[in-house]
Amino acid sequence: MDRPITRFAPSPTGQPHLGHAYSALFGWHAAREVGGTFLLRFEDIDPNRCRPEFEAAFTRDLAWLGLSWPEPVRRQSEHMGDYRAALDRLAERGVLYPCFCSRKDIQEEIARAGAAPHGPEGPLYPGTCRHMDPGRRAALLAAGTPHALRLDVATGGHQAGPLTWTDREVGTVAAQPGILGDVVLARRDVATSYHLAVTVDDHMQGVTLVTRGRDLMEATHVHRLLQALLGLDVPLWHHHRLLMNERGERLAKRDGAASLAALREGGATPAEVCQRLGMPPPQRIPT
Ligand code: GLU
Repeated sequence: MDRPITRFAPSPTGQPHLGHAYSALFGWHAAREVGGTFLLRFEDIDPNRCRPEFEAAFTRDLAWLGLSWPEPVRRQSEHMGDYRAALDRLAERGVLYPCFCSRKDIQEEIARAGAAPHGPEGPLYPGTCRHMDPGRRAALLAAGTPHALRLDVATGGHQAGPLTWTDREVGTVAAQPGILGDVVLARRDVATSYHLAVTVDDHMQGVTLVTRGRDLMEATHVHRLLQALLGLDVPLWHHHRLLMNERGERLAKRDGAASLAALREGGATPAEVCQRLGMPPPQRIPT
């Protein structure tokens, strides 16, 4: 790939910290060192958690680090029609089903069953609503009962056949689309989800190299299936290491001292931050 298009796609739910800086610099270098394009995208589908002031903080802190990107940036909240269209295509293929379960219903169902298939993040959705009697489903829908839409991964996987995806470090991997179970593609409160929006956006923005943390590697199996079902372009991936705090946990919002604003206010320069992350500072190449 000679001139990759990469992106950094934060959810503006808190102050940007060193982990974000590492991920953004990683994506920036992967593209710009070889004449490619680095994009910034805000994954702001959750109105309860995303705030304009955090978005402004990302823009300010990334520019302070010396990163640049083409404007306007894509904001997922402004593209709900694209996700709706993708959901319609999946519904036509018969790989979506409405799920009326609350979190509590799911926990109770798992407890009742005594055992549930486990994924990397704990028990998977037990499939309660996948097996719902069609008459009952139609009645609940007709009554306007709130529901999420889930991907029927077994049916989708069957339609798509065997799939692979390639990580620049790990190599080519056989996709396991069921690894996270029947994931939610449209939430009860928001008409899309992370998995759907990220997959549609990467295609629509022409992203050819998805750089992101290793914590999202399982999600890639699901995204690969969505790409196959929706007929979307398949990028290359590079899942990078995660930054840890001194307790060996993944750096998070609660590690306030690692926020870029706190570091800057404490007198750190962008070059020092880059050095601490083991990253060359970005040259100011115009976009
Ligand atoms: N929005 C996601 C996050 O903040 C990143 C999504 C991705 O890079 O695929 O963790």
